[in-house]
Amino acid sequence: MSEQKPNYRVYFQSRPGVNSAPTVSNFGYEPCTYPESPKNRHLVVETKYISVDPYMRCRMNVDSGVDYAKAWGIGETISGFAVGRVLQSTNESYKKGDLVTSTDMSWQWKKFTVVHSESIRKIDGISEEQSSLTLGIFGLTGLTGAIGVMEQGNIQSDLFQTVVVSGAAGACGCVAGQVAKLLGCKKIIGICGTQEKCSFLEEDLKFNGAVCYKSENVKQRLAELCPDGVDVYFDNVGGNISDDVISHMNKCSTVILCGQISTYNSDVPYPPPLNQASAKLVHANSINRERFLVLSYANKFPSTLAFLSKAYAEGKLVSKETISHGLQNAGNAFVQMMSGYNIGKQIVKV
Ligand code: NDP
Repeated sequence: MSEQKPNYRVYFQSRPGVNSAPTVSNFGYEPCTYPESPKNRHLVVETKYISVDPYMRCRMNVDSGVDYAKAWGIGETISGFAVGRVLQSTNESYKKGDLVTSTDMSWQWKKFTVVHSESIRKIDGISEEQSSLTLGIFGLTGLTGAIGVMEQGNIQSDLFQTVVVSGAAGACGCVAGQVAKLLGCKKIIGICGTQEKCSFLEEDLKFNGAVCYKSENVKQRLAELCPDGVDVYFDNVGGNISDDVISHMNKCSTVILCGQISTYNSDVPYPPPLNQASAKLVHANSINRERFLVLSYANKFPSTLAFLSKAYAEGKLVSKETISHGLQNAGNAFVQMMSGYNIGKQIVKV
């Protein structure tokens, strides 16, 4: 007999309207049954931390529009990346008390849930308190920021390169800018949505400058901050901000097309086409602009995690998290992240 404890789940209650931002009412929260005793290499896991991520907005549409994630059905339990502690195991490689994380999307946003042991990995050498790092700087967002810059940035440390990062104070952006600096880039400029985030980038992450796109003229500020033009652009947001950056880019420079969050609430294909003026500039200046997908670089994950861990241990890499509390607040944490509430990685502590 399994131990009977109260269990709860977050489920997909309604789709946001076409061309609308998500709202808290899109997520439901209700009691559900406690899992039965696990069989066939399954584990019962108590969820400790969950990650809310922009790609989830695509899962809220009727068609996700991307091949790596399915749309959620109404009533379906929300799934995503998470960290948890094993309560029961039928796989000898896992025992009660182990901390585990999942990098696929099968994990349920439930307090207690059954997971197949194939879809998880054990977290060793880290306390429960610090295990949320495996959803951020040592998780897919950290890997995205680092691998994007390393593999598609065309970074040359002997040149005085200027790097601009949009969505710079978010999970991927913080890592992208810091890794560019670690690789020898001399000037890193971040674009973000508040003055508080600008101060964080300049003071805590040691960026060379920051622009608040909500209160400043991005084009004008970039002209002041990047008099020699932009050599590498790590693009998390797309839209007008990216048009402004592209207008400052040098010949044969590079755009790492990581994400286009400014368009995720709109019914447009991914990646949306550039406007005519930017497309012309990209062509005329031979700007290399290729789509980047971290999942295409799975073979680089171990070496990149080793690089990030070493830099973090040596105090050369800063991790920042915004933590919301309670599974019942997970939907709200997602909605807030999509509207810019977070600095660094948005996490929910269950
Ligand atoms: P963040 O931690 O950056 O959180 C999202 C941030 O986006 C918000 O805090 C907000 O910051 C900003 N934002 C929201 N709406 C807009 C808008 N209209 N215009 C400009 N900025 C906006 O999220 P992640 O680091 O997890 O993701 C960043 C990007 O990376 C996303 O586009 C995501 O899809 C992409 N990604 C791509 C991967 C890949 O393999 N290519 C893998 C993982 C993520 P602000 O206050 O600055 O507005």
